[in-house]
Amino acid sequence: MFDQVQQALVPLIARVLDGQDTQSPSSKPLEGTFDVHKQQQLSETLVTAMGFDPDMGRIDVSVHPFTMSMSVKDVRITSRFRTDEWYQGLAGSIHEAGHAMYEQNLNPTALSLDTPLSMGTHESQSLFWERHIGLSRPFWRFAHPHLTQILDQSFFQQYTPEDVYKAVNRVSRSLIRVEADELTYPLHVILRYNIEKDVIAGKLHVKDIATRWNQDMKLLLNIDVPTDDKGALQDVHWSGLAFGYFPTYLIGAIAAAQLYHYCAMDIPDIERKIESGDFVPIKDWLKEKVHRHGRRYPSLDAMLEEQLGEALNPKYFIDYLTTKYSELYQILVTITVQRKLTILRPKARSIHKGQPSTIKYLEDAVVGHAIEMRQLREAIDRAKEWLLETRPILSAPNVFKEYTINMDQAPLPFSLASSTTLELEGEKTVTIRQTENSKTRCTVSLTITADGRKLKPMIIFKSQRGAGRLRPENLQPASIETTWCSAVNTMPGKTRKT
Ligand SMILES: [Zn+2]
Repeated sequence: MFDQVQQALVPLIARVLDGQDTQSPSSKPLEGTFDVHKQQQLSETLVTAMGFDPDMGRIDVSVHPFTMSMSVKDVRITSRFRTDEWYQGLAGSIHEAGHAMYEQNLNPTALSLDTPLSMGTHESQSLFWERHIGLSRPFWRFAHPHLTQILDQSFFQQYTPEDVYKAVNRVSRSLIRVEADELTYPLHVILRYNIEKDVIAGKLHVKDIATRWNQDMKLLLNIDVPTDDKGALQDVHWSGLAFGYFPTYLIGAIAAAQLYHYCAMDIPDIERKIESGDFVPIKDWLKEKVHRHGRRYPSLDAMLEEQLGEALNPKYFIDYLTTKYSELYQILVTITVQRKLTILRPKARSIHKGQPSTIKYLEDAVVGHAIEMRQLREAIDRAKEWLLETRPILSAPNVFKEYTINMDQAPLPFSLASSTTLELEGEKTVTIRQTENSKTRCTVSLTITADGRKLKPMIIFKSQRGAGRLRPENLQPASIETTWCSAVNTMPGKTRKT
């Protein structure tokens, strides 16, 4: 599982950090002079909004952030705040609030059955809130007014929610694990885990750990380690005999991404909910799927299997990071498309971006046809549908062409003359005679991913009249779908009349 993560992230990070075509977001919205008391107030406001119950716990300041649970009714969290940067303190609070909400939502009994399942599960809860909510674009639309109201009005008025979103998601090479961002962090864990395994298997001598560490840092993150205190000696885990502990951080991160994926399937407007500060359905979902079960399952895998229908699977984590950082760092992708259809006279339009711009393109394309809102929504829904369809193939993330699409659109008359005969299967050119009725035309957008996958055709009606009479589902499927999907749906090997 970790190998999959490593294989996906090493090239992605290299592209994000070294690519000539990338733009690094500014960290300016994070830096300044910020009052610790106000930061604490901001943290309390935001984590309470997210669902931390202050009547069943406390939020305090400490040197190192932690969560302590006396009982379900008293869960205390702490964070530390700096005066020259405000995000780290808040991130610590959100992380600890994620741990705390797990504790607060266990069944309120004294049974050991109603205690957290495992370290990895615990970490999945903190990372769910810290990353999938707290590092998301809609969250900063929600939180920006709080930044201006509570922290510093004149400072934050200079920046949009998008500026803040980009700043908190900046990627950089870090020698130190605890300072690493979410994209490079997994490699810090993998490096340690591989060393631990080799030491325990007798393949690596303890005296050679530092050398191996430095080699792996170069290999995985392209970082030169100047001294061992910034290298193999930076963590307290091994000196405290905590072997096999580091993987729980990454298992938690993988589980968090998987939980978010399924949560977003169950709450389709999750982003709108986050943006409006309505976190209740999300908290309830986590309670239903994770918290209330305590230790009733033998493992995290068993719980996910039963609750989500699938054991721990790193593809959601890889997908999340790839999609997010490709878009954030505007990693350009190139495409090659073979055009097979001569029935359509395509206006070739290539799209050089990932998913968001695809939606944008569709909106433009659809608006360009001046069709009514209902049809627009349908078209967009359909586009989203196949964007979801393409998600699974993102799991080989360094192959960017897999989620690059090319879209052609062409007018298609569907009022065919009754005696029209379509060509036999396999014909490259299909001639269609049509009636003069120009109102009964629709636009068909055909989309193909750069690796050759055909997506469902999108049909756009120009006039309300046409749309009213003929909806996509009662279109003659043979005239459109069979042609486009001929690789899948074969046409009968005889002439076909419409
Ligand atoms: Zn934690």
